[in-house]
Amino acid sequence: MAAQFGDLVASELYCPRCGSAQPVRERLLLILPDGELHEYCCRRCGTSLGQRRVTVPPGAAFAPHHRSAPPRRRP
Ligand SMILES: [Zn+2]
Repeated sequence: MAAQFGDLVASELYCPRCGSAQPVRERLLLILPDGELHEYCCRRCGTSLGQRRVTVPPGAAFAPHHRSAPPRRRP
């Protein structure tokens, strides 16, 4: 069973420790320059069941807002 989810948000994953599909808890693992890495843990035993990389589309998070908005100046 491959631990690749793409953009799919998993609510339940098979936990080898519990021996069945379990609801998962998602937590932010680390922040990447171009996105975030989330980890899925079994809610029952806490085993890490997989990771999901959330990529931020270019221009979404790092869009230059100063193009449309004038720079704010401090007095
Ligand atoms: Zn488990």
